[in-house]
Amino acid sequence: MSSKIKPLKYHEKLNFSPSLENTDSLSLKKEYQLFINGRFQKPLSNKYFASINPANENKIAMVAQANEKDVDLAVKAARNSYESHWSKTPPKERAKYIYRIARIIQEKAKELAILETLDGGKPIRESRDIDIPLAAAHFFYYAGWADKLDYAFPNRNPKPLGVVGQIIPWNFPLMMAAWKIAPALATGNTVVLKPAESTSLTALKLAEIIQEADLPDGVVNIITGPGSTGEMIVNHPDIDKIAFTGSTEVGKTIMRSISSTSKKSTMELGGKAANIIFEDAPLDQAVEGVINGIYFNQGHVCCAGSRLFVQESVYELILRKLKDRMQSLVVGDPLDKNTDIGAINSKQQLSTINNYIDIGKKEGADIFQLSCDLPAKGYWCPPTLFTNVSQSHRIAKEEIFGPVLAVQTFRTTEEVITKANNTPFGLSAGVWTDKGSKVFNLTSKLRAGVIWANTYNKFDPTSPFGGYKESGHGREGGLHGLSPYLNIE
Ligand code: NAP
Ligand code: MG
Repeated sequence: MSSKIKPLKYHEKLNFSPSLENTDSLSLKKEYQLFINGRFQKPLSNKYFASINPANENKIAMVAQANEKDVDLAVKAARNSYESHWSKTPPKERAKYIYRIARIIQEKAKELAILETLDGGKPIRESRDIDIPLAAAHFFYYAGWADKLDYAFPNRNPKPLGVVGQIIPWNFPLMMAAWKIAPALATGNTVVLKPAESTSLTALKLAEIIQEADLPDGVVNIITGPGSTGEMIVNHPDIDKIAFTGSTEVGKTIMRSISSTSKKSTMELGGKAANIIFEDAPLDQAVEGVINGIYFNQGHVCCAGSRLFVQESVYELILRKLKDRMQSLVVGDPLDKNTDIGAINSKQQLSTINNYIDIGKKEGADIFQLSCDLPAKGYWCPPTLFTNVSQSHRIAKEEIFGPVLAVQTFRTTEEVITKANNTPFGLSAGVWTDKGSKVFNLTSKLRAGVIWANTYNKFDPTSPFGGYKESGHGREGGLHGLSPYLNIE
């Protein structure tokens, strides 16, 4: 079989001249405060931490660290605004504020994209084309639902929960904030949100936008700090619900903490998605989808297609095409519009990824990495793939959250379903085939919340997103994303 396949020429790396995004529109403060009760306030802790640009290790700004008293102030502000006006604000009025936030995000899209890239390390192309437009789209979408809840849940008298604590990760900072805040406001709740320590800045810009939109004081409070600040939100007695996106480990800790309380929860946790290529698939399209599935955003994606299953008859061809395409990826300055692969979000995450790469080698898998010069400073990992991987290898079982792909093969549909489902996670999957019947067969048998067919990593605010098993519970997005924020009779 392999002798019939003509060797493919590696793509010649196109040497584009740098095309750096113009950063003139960005206005940065040296020090960022907590956003509580509609105002930026110094933390009672008097402590600040640095936010770092992971592409060059430069400090961007200092950010306030909220302690228990600060968290209490934020929860009180949210409770007061809930009781005194937000729960009584007519839904149509709520919608106007949410639309206004969406429109200001659009107006400031360029500045937000630059800041997302500076603070988090992702390529400007992704911040500009994915993160920021999707954040705005989410606010637009849920603004539309605010005055239609009785149609969404007919005869069920939907009522808000009250004060919601929201904790988000660093991989899609503004987008995750939008996924959390927009449905909470549309359903009449008030919010205390904590972004991840390494990427607080766009959430604080969002606080400025919320101020500009004249949202009543205290409806949204954004407080910053490390995991311990998140823990204080979780354990605050006056919080009615925790909406968490992050690791399965922290998600489990939170569930334990709230198990003896009446707090409700939504958990969007880790993943180890299977991306499955059948021999009848459009192969070049599938290779592009695999690249997008795992190397997009440096693999910092909960639904990343980190396990690739290829039908044996096309394995060698796919592997060659994949390596060929990997060689054409541009790794480097995230602010350069030519860049495909930016910086790893933090030193700590880089060391986690490198540790898994070592484990993969020690377990006996074969490694292939893009050969390229990496910048001298900052946190970088070239796109990596492992072959000769078995189901028991840790790189095939555990979430790496980096640009590392584990490739396995299969012969039959039954075999690949069993292999794909052999994981404690169940967030997403991808299927590549020419046959609609195969797609429907797999979508009904794969235990994953989101399954893409002949595409990957496509998001839309109208579509529910969320997982099974250790990938969490509850859905965000779409009509499904409203009910976790409502008491429904
Ligand atoms: P993480 O360590 O769990 O942190 C998530 C958030 O929780 C951060 O804001 C973090 O603060 C905070 N936190 C940490 N410890 C806490 C505690 N004990 N109590 C309350 N809050 C706490 O996850 P991450 O490393 O930031 O993000 C990567 C993980 O998120 C991956 O596992 C990924 O799969 C998952 N994720 C899932 C989805 C989804 O929709 N299913 C989407 C995106 C990411 P600090 O950052 O300040 O520590
Ligand atoms: Mg940062």
